[in-house]
Amino acid sequence: MILVSVNDEGVRYECYGKTDQELRKVQGIIRENKSALCPECQAPVQVRIYPDGLRTNHFYHLASGGGCGYGKGESEEHLLGKTSIRRYLEDCPDWDGCEFLLEHRIETPEGVRVIDLAVIHPNGEKEAHEAQLSKQSASEFDKRSTLYQEAGFTPIWWLGSKNETSRNYLYKKYGWVGKIEVEERPVDFGVREYFNK
Ligand SMILES: [Zn+2]
Repeated sequence: MILVSVNDEGVRYECYGKTDQELRKVQGIIRENKSALCPECQAPVQVRIYPDGLRTNHFYHLASGGGCGYGKGESEEHLLGKTSIRRYLEDCPDWDGCEFLLEHRIETPEGVRVIDLAVIHPNGEKEAHEAQLSKQSASEFDKRSTLYQEAGFTPIWWLGSKNETSRNYLYKKYGWVGKIEVEERPVDFGVREYFNK
């Protein structure tokens, strides 16, 4: 499951924030000319719409196989996490006027990394928001945070219930940590609080 496709010129298109009607139009255009591509393998993708709103609209590879693992194994919970953090920040005065980029790809010394939600402030400051809902070791937090910092992004970790115990360690070290809880739809996602150093 992928939230962003690109065209053959690399221009991004996000499912997020689009009405079903708009996405159905996009589906038709893609059917005509295969104009939406996977950002990883450049193979054609199509958009999947859930009119009941019970799952997150997303792109999927038209041809199975081909070796591209991008978006594979991505849980609905994680998709909901990423989009809910974005919805939360869009309503937050601290993030007024920011540019939001879901699944933003960056080059690092260890290859391409995908930031769950990159945020670019009007003054140019950049943040990497990560919805970390599964367990992750401290050394992995360190490694990924360092990669983001070296690429010019302040890492902001949003931790799910399994990870809350790590928050003291994290916010002392990296500045910001949020706490999130994924609930069943239509209750949707709850951002409970966030911390600053
Ligand atoms: Zn792919």
